[in-house]
Amino acid sequence: MRGIGSEYCLQKITGEIFKVKLASRVGRVKSSPTLAITMKAKALRAEGRDVVGFGAGEPDFDTPFNIKQAAIKAIEEGFTKYTPSSGIDELKDAIINKLERDNKLTYNRSQVVVSCGAKDTLYNLAQALFEEGDEVIVPSPYWVSYPAFVILAGATPVILDTKESDGFRINPGQLEKAITNNTKAVILNSPSNPTGVAYSSEELEALAEIIVKKDILVISDDIYEKIIYDDFRFYNIASVGEEIKRLTVVVNGVSKTYAMTGWRIGYAAGPEDIIAAVTKIQSQNISNPTSISQKAAVEALEGNQDAVDKMVKEFKKRRDYIVKTLNSIPGVNCMNPQGAFYVFPDISSLFAMSYCDKKIDTSTDFAEYLLNEVDVAVVPGIAFGNDNHVRLSYAMSMENIQKGLERIGNAVAKLTAR
Ligand code: PMP
Repeated sequence: MRGIGSEYCLQKITGEIFKVKLASRVGRVKSSPTLAITMKAKALRAEGRDVVGFGAGEPDFDTPFNIKQAAIKAIEEGFTKYTPSSGIDELKDAIINKLERDNKLTYNRSQVVVSCGAKDTLYNLAQALFEEGDEVIVPSPYWVSYPAFVILAGATPVILDTKESDGFRINPGQLEKAITNNTKAVILNSPSNPTGVAYSSEELEALAEIIVKKDILVISDDIYEKIIYDDFRFYNIASVGEEIKRLTVVVNGVSKTYAMTGWRIGYAAGPEDIIAAVTKIQSQNISNPTSISQKAAVEALEGNQDAVDKMVKEFKKRRDYIVKTLNSIPGVNCMNPQGAFYVFPDISSLFAMSYCDKKIDTSTDFAEYLLNEVDVAVVPGIAFGNDNHVRLSYAMSMENIQKGLERIGNAVAKLTAR
């Protein structure tokens, strides 16, 4: 019998077509929309179309030379076998040093676990912590995968909407109101994907007070920690004090900071029992993060950091340009983000406009219009829980950014009120 929400798929085996009943959880989540847009742009390029893709959340820079050399050395030395499930001690020590150096947070090896990217860390954490009946607070706009992780663990994401006028940040009163007896955790992401907004130390202190008072957990996703601009200073909520540190799991990784998206190394640091649970899960699903990538990550964290400064300087130039240019397009409003490599302009002034028979009423309509009309890929804001915006990643060359923005300007100019 077909269960509610279940899906069937067709399989061809020895020429026969039959239906397979998939687990109902598959029907409860969507494929990652950001990866889908990136793939669509790639497919159109393969057809010969000159698509400018603002979709990918991935630095366009090459992985720094010293990091690649560390991986080559690992291969040459035969460091190509299984490692402990929670990662090698050498990398755990590099992570512990980094957290002490950058965040003034002290952990020991049994409080650190290394995974196949921060995405894997977060998924495993959700599996370790959440179950049916649990509520997990997810501020919106959110990174697309947070609600999916919560749902796949059987729990319920409670989406907490934030307004652009509040800088897309949750405030303590709003957080306190959203907490019920079933609330297990809140997920914070600063700087944020998709808004680029980051929390100040004062704002985090105020949130920490509520979290401690209500005794819930906080997952702090710091993946964009190093990609910050102007005089913004990154701060982790766990640094507020011992009480909140005991309730915090810090998640971070090397993908964004070191242009290492393909290497798949992320990590978590937090209470020993939570880390032990994640390790147990990892021992049954990934066995271990790639041995070679772990050696490369040691070099990333401990080696020369000049490449990071260079990349961030370049990102800042692009951010300044993209914010200024988007704001010069009538009907587009773009706030200046403190970090990450995304902008999240408000395009809702363009709703109720059209071009030929194409009506623009939603962020998806606008994104489709851009892709079909001018070969520009952006991600509809609805994927992040906000339909008035679209997300543009500026992790690509200045030349492409200029070309893409010019096309967006032309496309918007073609729209007429209906
Ligand atoms: N958190 C956020 C907010 C992200 O944007 C991403 C990547 N898009 C990740 C975590 C996962 O990064 P990775 O798995 O490459 O470490």
